[in-house]
Amino acid sequence: MNFYPLYDGFSRVWSLRRLLLSSPSGTRWLMYHAIGSDVPDDDKKLYSITADQFEQQAQWLSRTYPAVATEEKNLNSQQGVSIGITFDDGYRDNLYVAAPILQRYQLPFSVFVIADAVRRRDRLFLSATDIRRLISEYDVVIGSHGATHVPLTRCNDIRLREELTSSKHYLEDALGQEVIWISYPHGDVNRRVRDMAEEAGYRFGWTSFISTNDANIDPLMLPRLPVLSVDGLRIIKQKINGDWDWFVWKQRAFQVWQERHFQVGRSGG
Ligand SMILES: [Zn+2]
Repeated sequence: MNFYPLYDGFSRVWSLRRLLLSSPSGTRWLMYHAIGSDVPDDDKKLYSITADQFEQQAQWLSRTYPAVATEEKNLNSQQGVSIGITFDDGYRDNLYVAAPILQRYQLPFSVFVIADAVRRRDRLFLSATDIRRLISEYDVVIGSHGATHVPLTRCNDIRLREELTSSKHYLEDALGQEVIWISYPHGDVNRRVRDMAEEAGYRFGWTSFISTNDANIDPLMLPRLPVLSVDGLRIIKQKINGDWDWFVWKQRAFQVWQERHFQVGRSGG
């Protein structure tokens, strides 16, 4: 069943609250996946958007939100809304399709790669050579998206540490630079995962929780807005304005259910 029209309707109602509030501020990180290629197991084709669609969005974003967040600056911008652009999984099209478009509109971006996919030289994903090319030609930050893309809250401590550190070290060796950025695979993160990421040496962590990033935000628990293939500019604008922030209640409830369902102990599981 497709609930999206229902969510959209609810967000339109929720947007009315803005009549009573001051204009939105803070950084909104957008989460993309593939641009043009097919994402495995994405039956509803939500996570791949076309190059034309992406170009239209990049042009609109660059005109509407001149303040673009990167990891180093604007992280907690308080003057109006700034946006930041991220890609999860490290699809090869990020280099060949997305990067030239973003460069055209002077938009910096971050790509979070799955270490094992890079190592496997899977055709769909960026190789180490591709990533080095991205770094040398574009305004990009490369972060980890785990070693194997497994949901981290379901890992026991030993596996969790391995996922966090082996991906970090592999990327650091391959790229010759420090990797202190992570996007938690499937947005799956809790206190234990967050703390262990910090212990492993990460300083910034991106979740998939929908919310704004204000001055009080924990840099290892940064909210993001998923941009899906069904999202037109109107919905993206709604999301950036906070009209979809109610969705985080659903996400939190799902997480509580999930943690009860897949009880993973600190030492076992
Ligand atoms: Zn992912």
